[in-house]
Amino acid sequence: MCDTCGCSNDLNQQQPAYRPVAQTMAVPVITRLLHGNDYQAAHNRVHFDAHGVLVVNLMSAPGSGKTALLEATIDALKKELRIAVIEGDLETENDAKRIRAKGVPAVQITTGTACHLDAHMVHDALHAMRLEEVDILFIENVGNLICPASFDLGQHRDVILLSVTEGDDKPAKYPVMFRAADVLLISKIDLLPLLDDFSTARAEQCLRNLANDAPVLQLSARKQSSLAPWLQYLRDELSAQRARIASGGIMPMTDHPDGTNDTMVQTPI
Ligand code: MG
Repeated sequence: MCDTCGCSNDLNQQQPAYRPVAQTMAVPVITRLLHGNDYQAAHNRVHFDAHGVLVVNLMSAPGSGKTALLEATIDALKKELRIAVIEGDLETENDAKRIRAKGVPAVQITTGTACHLDAHMVHDALHAMRLEEVDILFIENVGNLICPASFDLGQHRDVILLSVTEGDDKPAKYPVMFRAADVLLISKIDLLPLLDDFSTARAEQCLRNLANDAPVLQLSARKQSSLAPWLQYLRDELSAQRARIASGGIMPMTDHPDGTNDTMVQTPI
């Protein structure tokens, strides 16, 4: 899999007495990589908060309908809110083109071999974005139910999609990802009548078994009427974000080894 996050190293496997040097070195390298990512993510969050932007990280398996949901969300909200999108894919600019066709700015990040976005990639993308003209920034992460959950991007909310064409036990199989969910969207529900092996109740129970009490919303990008709870969730989260900023609240900051933290960082984007 990915060459950058260590997911190709089976570090949990029972090791023989002799452990190759490359694996011995991998643990501290990955630890430093994640620490550096957390620092950059906190820095990104400072930028987002300074501009009053709500940032929503969309994660799911490939093909669960993230881009289609974004298109439908834009159609519903673009006269009400200013939306921008960062798209993450291994290759192609196809999804960013779909978003731009809706009249919304979109920056495509092509990750090459990396199976996730990281905070540095997102920061680089911000150079091509005018945050002062954005209310909600969506980050469509690379389709993958494993690695993206380990990389904070500076987002305020994690939204996980689970389509009905996947198994309803996905939360049980990928607990790290689904524990991270601030809201779970069961997508493509227009296909439910065609399927006899997906239970929305079972999917929700799998999430609850992870001690996650996040809202579970059922929707289809093809059925505008099904989007109402999702659209209201976004409005409510944006209002909460603005109230938090107005009251002087800030998201937790990551301390840097030199004793500074991101509230001290004034570097322009
Ligand atoms: Mg997509």
